[in-house]
Amino acid sequence: MGPRGRGLYVGRRAAAAGAALLLALLLALLVLAALYGRCRREEAPPPSLRAPGPAAPPPPAAAAGSVRRLPRHLLPLHYDLELWPRVRPGQAGPFAFSGQVNITVRCLRDTGAAVLHSSGLRSHGAAAVRGPLSEPGAAVEVAELRHDQEGEVAVLELRGRLRAGHLYVLQLGFQGRLEEGLDGLFLSRYTDQGQSSMLIASQMEPTYARRVYPCFDEPAMKATFNIRIIHNPSYVALSNMPAIDVSEVKDENGSLWTVTTFNTSLKMSTYLTAFVICDFNYVTRTERGNEIRIWARKEAIKNGYVDYALNITGSIFAFLEDILNVSYPLPKTDLVAVPGFGAGGMENWGLIIFQEAALMNLPSEEFTIRKAMIASVVSHELGHQWFGNLVTMNWWNDLWLNEGLASYFEYLGATFVEPKLPLDKIFYAHIVQPVLREDSEIARSLSESEDKINGSFSLMSLFDNITYSKGASITWMLSGFLTEKLFLKALTSYLKEFSFSNANQDDLWTHIQMVVDAQDEVQLPAPIKQIMDSWTCQNGFPVLTLNLTTGTVRQEQFFNKNNRKSTDSYNNTWIIPISWMRNGSSQPLTWLDKSSKMFPEMQVSESEYDWILLNVNLSGYYRVNYDQINLKRLARLLENDPKAIPAVSRFQLIDDVFALTDFGYVPIETALELTKYLAREDELFIWNMVLLNLIPDNLESTLKNHEVYPLLKKYLLKRMLPIYHYYAGFIPQNVDALEDDYFAQAYLEKFMATACWLGLQDCLDLSSELFAKWRENPEYKIPLLIRRTVYCYGVAVGSDKEWNFAWEMYNHTDSDEEDEDILLYAMSCAKESWLLHR
Ligand SMILES: [Zn+2]
Repeated sequence: MGPRGRGLYVGRRAAAAGAALLLALLLALLVLAALYGRCRREEAPPPSLRAPGPAAPPPPAAAAGSVRRLPRHLLPLHYDLELWPRVRPGQAGPFAFSGQVNITVRCLRDTGAAVLHSSGLRSHGAAAVRGPLSEPGAAVEVAELRHDQEGEVAVLELRGRLRAGHLYVLQLGFQGRLEEGLDGLFLSRYTDQGQSSMLIASQMEPTYARRVYPCFDEPAMKATFNIRIIHNPSYVALSNMPAIDVSEVKDENGSLWTVTTFNTSLKMSTYLTAFVICDFNYVTRTERGNEIRIWARKEAIKNGYVDYALNITGSIFAFLEDILNVSYPLPKTDLVAVPGFGAGGMENWGLIIFQEAALMNLPSEEFTIRKAMIASVVSHELGHQWFGNLVTMNWWNDLWLNEGLASYFEYLGATFVEPKLPLDKIFYAHIVQPVLREDSEIARSLSESEDKINGSFSLMSLFDNITYSKGASITWMLSGFLTEKLFLKALTSYLKEFSFSNANQDDLWTHIQMVVDAQDEVQLPAPIKQIMDSWTCQNGFPVLTLNLTTGTVRQEQFFNKNNRKSTDSYNNTWIIPISWMRNGSSQPLTWLDKSSKMFPEMQVSESEYDWILLNVNLSGYYRVNYDQINLKRLARLLENDPKAIPAVSRFQLIDDVFALTDFGYVPIETALELTKYLAREDELFIWNMVLLNLIPDNLESTLKNHEVYPLLKKYLLKRMLPIYHYYAGFIPQNVDALEDDYFAQAYLEKFMATACWLGLQDCLDLSSELFAKWRENPEYKIPLLIRRTVYCYGVAVGSDKEWNFAWEMYNHTDSDEEDEDILLYAMSCAKESWLLHR
């Protein structure tokens, strides 16, 4: 499934900061205050609360019900499935659908009952069992068909027995309700070209296929499918495979319906079956024999909203085929933009369904961030065509094999089509850093034991940041220490062996080991399974504590020392790849494979210019706690020559030290020591992380009237000025020059808002100036990148004239929804209380 509210298009996260940090900050800043003298207290409105970019996706669908496993007596081989949603355009509800499924099964063990999944469906006609198929005309009489709603299974009690080694066909007619929803087969209403319309679409992952047709709804029970959809003639029907026949049928009332028949599918899991019935239009292109069609509302197609998605889809397919060295096996791929779809996207084989916002952009919109978001969601879903669709995890406990790998390829694919994207910085800022923040508080490992995911376990809870982001981070680390070349070679071998079948993570380790054993460039300290199990089967991650006088590196599980209870145990150890650097030169990769180890080569001399940096460019999933000597040297180096340390490592150094402060490892002064250099920091993604740590959203209101505000203001503004002036220089005339600056689009608004909030006069003046320009000429467009901040502070530092203008523009019929939202927010920025009460 596509990322839910995560990834490139979520501008920033809400940083969690404990009360301890606030207190410590206060104390530390009081010390600073002594140095800087008291400052004038100044009131200012809060910074922007929302990042620019597309709206956040809606909340996830309700949790799936039972995860009851089916007995292993019967193995499905093939489904003949007919679905008939009784929907006509313009018709009022309630709606229903009916269907017929004939499932060919192989009997593995003798049984007197056939058990399969079914949820919320009613029988329609009598169920039957034909077979054994080797005996023409043979049948087994059905005594009773029972529905166990809680267990989500249907049980066919038989008068005879099914015999091992024989094939049978289970025949079931069924009907169900068709509702406006987000899962199973659902109805979606929308407006197109001024008319209200509706469509029918499906979302089966993880266990909603059983709500649409009775089936063996487990990922390892793969089968082929012949699908037939009966629908209103004004709609087109889509499924995983190409349509091979369109005919007509009359219902009991004599009304005409269209029957669309699809080609036999490849062997696949039920959660990947998909159906869309709509009156959309499409754009199309063929790439290496794969016919790609992108479907959307007619209006959106006409306006070119999916042209960008069409331009990149073929290239990403080709890119993935090339690096994985495994061809895409289907002759067609439909991508459908469904209004009101729950996930960002769903990778159904050959029929990928997206939320509209994840697939559309205005052709005039040149912003890198918008394109990057589309490119990443499309890459993620295309990555699944191999990881998930071709090779599927055996069971949901290894969901990360789907989602972690798709999230990893999401970044490779996106940078392939948008090469200007700073991949490593984005990966760290959006994936690794946020999940490191979360992972220390979640007692769940990436790969759970299979029997734990059973009974009432909520499968939806597995679709979380651990599965997606930790999965991608671990993959990133693995690819790093293996080298990408070996890693891809191993993936090819894994994909080829398990095509149209299932695997668990040990199967992946086996194929990596094979590739490692066949060469001698890369040497590992232990079998790959042992190394990787320490990352995937244990919860949390390590922090390395250094004593560089002796060269000792010690690992322990990173945990919050402030909250520790005496019963807690944090005894995990990992096999850790250590990339490192001494005085700017990269050193050979080394490994920490026990709790503590001496590395004589890492001892530092007396010289203040001798320094060590570990986990260069965040190649490993862990934090580093340096000793005071080295930290002082790093802080000094940053002040003299920040670029001596790679940008991602600077980001990581500071984030690590704030996290260490938060969790009681080091005092806040240590963190502030490392931020002293910031006047020379010109990377917005680093600044954004610093501001999240120093002014987390939940502290804004506390800080506003607090003693600490003037101190923070003094400390930060002095350092923010150079980068503020750099970016302010592009505004208003030259803002197009930031078109390719991904982080300017992601973070500039927040940065500017913070500068204004801290009372930076230049920022307030700029806002007033642009706001005045707009008042004089309402046609003038304030650059979208900073519009929210300008509106807000234009009103805040203005009088009732500014407020009235905002109110007037808000009520103006031409203003679009986004602008209205920004204006509404701006009016709340007014400082005069009588204005606020209006
Ligand atoms: Zn996914």
